Amino acid sequence: MADYDVIVIGAGPAGYVAAIRCAQLGLKTAVVDEWIGKDGKPALGGTCLNVGCIPSKALLESSEIYETVLKQGAQHGIKHKGLEPDVPQMIKRKDQVVSELTGGIAQLFKANGIQWIQGRGCLKPERVVTVTDLDGGQKDYSAKNVILATGSCPIELEAAPLTDDIIVNSSGALDWESVPKSVCVIGSGVIGLELGSVWRRLGSKVTILEAMDSFLPAVDSQIAKEGLRQFKKQGLDIKLGARMTATKVTKAGVTISYSDTDGEQSMKVDRLIVAVGRHPNSNGLAAPETELLLDERDFVHVNDQCETMVPGVYAIGDLVRGPMLAHKGSEEGVAVAELIAGQSFGMNYDCIPNVIYTHPEISWVGKTEEDLKSEAIDYSVGVFPFAASGRAKAMDDAIGMVKVITNTDTDKILGVHIIGPHSSEVVGQGVMAMEFDGTSEDMARMIFAHPTLSEALHEAALGANGRAIHIANKAKKTK
Ligand code: FAD
Ligand code: NAD
Repeated sequence: MADYDVIVIGAGPAGYVAAIRCAQLGLKTAVVDEWIGKDGKPALGGTCLNVGCIPSKALLESSEIYETVLKQGAQHGIKHKGLEPDVPQMIKRKDQVVSELTGGIAQLFKANGIQWIQGRGCLKPERVVTVTDLDGGQKDYSAKNVILATGSCPIELEAAPLTDDIIVNSSGALDWESVPKSVCVIGSGVIGLELGSVWRRLGSKVTILEAMDSFLPAVDSQIAKEGLRQFKKQGLDIKLGARMTATKVTKAGVTISYSDTDGEQSMKVDRLIVAVGRHPNSNGLAAPETELLLDERDFVHVNDQCETMVPGVYAIGDLVRGPMLAHKGSEEGVAVAELIAGQSFGMNYDCIPNVIYTHPEISWVGKTEEDLKSEAIDYSVGVFPFAASGRAKAMDDAIGMVKVITNTDTDKILGVHIIGPHSSEVVGQGVMAMEFDGTSEDMARMIFAHPTLSEALHEAALGANGRAIHIANKAKKTK
């Protein structure tokens, strides 16, 4: 008889959420995880809680408070003298937030009767999981179902091998105890922009080298263009079409060679962050005889319901296709748990919100104008600038816009794209509208509290039919 109904390998936001939902559904569940926290003890929560979403947002918050007081304090009538960042305190606060949240998951596991098995899991045939514990001892556990949720790790570049703290990946850049004078980031993706912003706000001169000619190609181009303008205005030196070719660590820091349209270039900085994407943790996850199929980029191959080619074995989160986002993995975890319990797999891949937690925040859900053009769908666009929002003005933060895109024939909302203050909170309303197959007319008829940033979403929805109240507008329509 199997030891468990379900064994989950990996306790990041995909795996731990899957385990909790399995336990709620009455399934006997164990979770195998190998993460060792900063204090040297096993920790739950994976990348997201330990070195990802949460610690980066903690430092983004601290650095934003500092910069706001520094740059806007006087305007708001807040006098300050001798203001300076206390970076060790910021790191300490960040670590406290992390340890409270990872400890919280351990409590949730206890409350739900989930067994936490510490060590590295390897899938064998017949859904046996061999766990190598922290001392090297091995033990086999069997289950009726196995959920693989081992996440991802930073991609390394041969030309920029990591050092203790001069050349680092995202994890290293979350632990610097002082502000480097100059920082270079390779990659102007989400991590490059978020961590580049943290250190720029605290006083570093930050240069970002991006190999591609385009900036944030997955983002609606109008929003991405405004983002690039804002980030450059803040002092982030973003060089597009710049490919790093070599690095040399010196006593003074690191020399970086790169090529761009002007030819070979070099720059010297104190620190370098490599942020060029993440790779799925599939290496050694399954013994060859299990015949777990990987795709050409090493993601575990799954169908629309997260089922692998091995019966009774599922895979979720960063380990499989789709955006590498915590909430995407968590919802796959819930959907797989419910599928195992005999329910249907409920996951809408067309309605996953994305957020870049810079200032202004960039948030979106659904299709961009570029998507719709390539799909030859006629669409209407309503745009409302935060410059016309009373709340954004009162906050002294009236930058960016909300853009609502609808189907011209049906009025159905196809995409919501925002650059502006706290847009991560506003985009959720777009997600809700789209999940309910909402139209811009539905949103137009809803009452939004005044004064809120959400009113800008209301106005953008009105704008898709040329009805915005607080700007003179004409809807943009493709027919
Ligand atoms: P992970 O969180 O990577 O967890 C996998 C777990 O499996 C780990 O604990 C690992 O130790 C364990 N494991 C791996 N192999 C084995 C094995 N063989 N045996 C046992 N255990 C194993 N996403 C967002 O949605 N919002 C954000 O704001 C955000 N910010 C981020 C900031 C940074 C700096 C980074 C790096 C990432 C960020 N992400 C963000 C991405 C997010 O962290 C990931 O999408 C998410 O953590 C993926 O969840 P997961 O459960 O699939 O994998
Ligand atoms: P990314 O894919 O977002 O960006 C990597 C960037 O590096 C790309 O623009 C790419 O063109 C560039 N690049 C690749 N190789 C290069 C090279 N040799 N030289 C110069 N540029 C190069 O990856 P990331 O920023 O590392 O983030 C990894 C994942 O983590 C993302 O998929 C993201 O979804 C997730 N994440 C999400 C959040 C969030 O939701 N707020 C925050 C951080 C990370």
